[in-house]
Amino acid sequence: MPWTATILTLFPDVFPGPLAASLSGSGLAEGLWRLDTIGLRDFGLGRHRSVDDTPAGGGPGMVMRADVVAAAVDAARGRVPDAPVIYLSPRGRALTQERARTLSKGAGVTLLCGRFEGIDERVLQAREIEEISLGDFVLSGGEIAAMALIDACVRLLPGIVGADASLDWESFEKGLLEYPHYTRPREWEGRAIPGILLSGDHAKIAKWRRDQAEKITRQRRPDLWDRFTKG
Ligand code: SAH
Repeated sequence: MPWTATILTLFPDVFPGPLAASLSGSGLAEGLWRLDTIGLRDFGLGRHRSVDDTPAGGGPGMVMRADVVAAAVDAARGRVPDAPVIYLSPRGRALTQERARTLSKGAGVTLLCGRFEGIDERVLQAREIEEISLGDFVLSGGEIAAMALIDACVRLLPGIVGADASLDWESFEKGLLEYPHYTRPREWEGRAIPGILLSGDHAKIAKWRRDQAEKITRQRRPDLWDRFTKG
């Protein structure tokens, strides 16, 4: 079975969305990876297929029920037993390129998308669900975060991005941000392409790119630069 993303969501219709475009989209069409959605509403209770209820202890909003979410998670685990179950959540550890690479080497991912105030804590504990965040901001649902995580993983799968080399030098792969890119025209609005890139001297070009990557990382991301120089 190819690498499989299984998404547990109240809004299955929003998938594949942008994942159907470009490289991930052709990979999906060619069967290089699979996308499955499981509608949480299908596990809802009663005539209204209810999935949420008021928060214990009071307060605003609604919370997704442990029993409903657990039934959906168990169904997903039955489909791809080896895929880790991940809850997209602002409380999770921030997604990194390294994590995406590790996940891309496994069987796939089973992604739980929250809505409302979030999910009853007990199901996260009982099913040992890892939490991953997209960053320190709050989205209104986990679907966009799930798409971002899937995209980051899928482009690392064999056969998705044409030349493996084009992944090699990307931002974060070497612990640095990427060097700047240029293409035609040679001069645009009075701005020329740096001469060295037109020199044909591949060793010099490689060194220039490396220097630029270091300079940009130092200026923009002292945290990454620190890790790079110490690590
Ligand atoms: N009350 C929560 C926010 C709920 S937002 C809190 O303050 O932490 C509703 C859903 O959006 C969450 O259950 C989660 O699945 C998703 N979400 C919101 N922000 C996110 C982020 N930064 N990364 C990943 N998922 C996020």
